[in-house]
Amino acid sequence: MARRPIVGGNWKCNPDSMSKLDELITNINNCDTSKCDVYVSPSPLHVTYCMDKVTNGAHVCPQNCNFKGCGAYTGEMAVEQMKDLKIGWVLIGHSERREYFAETDTMLAQKLKYILDAGMKCVFCIGEKLPEREKGLEATMAVCISQLEQIKGLLDPEKVVIAYEPVWAIGTGVTATAEQAQETHAAIRKWIAGNVSEECAAGIRIQYGGSANAKNAPELSACPDIDGFLVGGASLKPEFVDIVAAIS
Ligand code: PEP
Repeated sequence: MARRPIVGGNWKCNPDSMSKLDELITNINNCDTSKCDVYVSPSPLHVTYCMDKVTNGAHVCPQNCNFKGCGAYTGEMAVEQMKDLKIGWVLIGHSERREYFAETDTMLAQKLKYILDAGMKCVFCIGEKLPEREKGLEATMAVCISQLEQIKGLLDPEKVVIAYEPVWAIGTGVTATAEQAQETHAAIRKWIAGNVSEECAAGIRIQYGGSANAKNAPELSACPDIDGFLVGGASLKPEFVDIVAAIS
């Protein structure tokens, strides 16, 4: 089954000025979205500004949402608010949210259900830390499976994209080799085939994230189970356009 590639830019808590934000938005608008879905995940403060200024069909995909809705959830964003702003996608489960904001698999499963029930789409991040990677594929997959187990009933290729992001590769400049990434993507797909359905496994898109850049994107994107990238650092640079071009 042909899967449409998807590349996202996670700007995290950047940039620090509106003039730099305008430059980043120009970069997004320079991406070719004809053969590849593109999304950008700005800081919450910048989401509505980006909604107005991104004009090339790229999606604006907030980096988080709450688990329940509007009301007494100080500091949070509800998907009802996003829908009202015509936002269609939200990213959850980033390793930084898991690490610094104590997001658990149970909480993330609740968030995913809430997102899908609201009719929105989701990029769901998973990935192992260095000690598991050093033990090999089995230990790596044990982590990925533990992060997928509670959401397996919610996996739908039309509505969910998995971002496989080995934590040791995020922001470190150390990229998974094409062999490591392909092997893990294939293992995730095989697990989905056995635990959800063959159809879901064949259709669901799995992005790679972890120090992806314009240099390594061509080799990684040639791998049969890699359907695009979630890009952090390089999404703050003009080369993001080249990463999108590499997979298109
Ligand atoms: C990320 O933050 O999701 C990410 C992959 O970052 P980087 O590309 O900088 O490793």
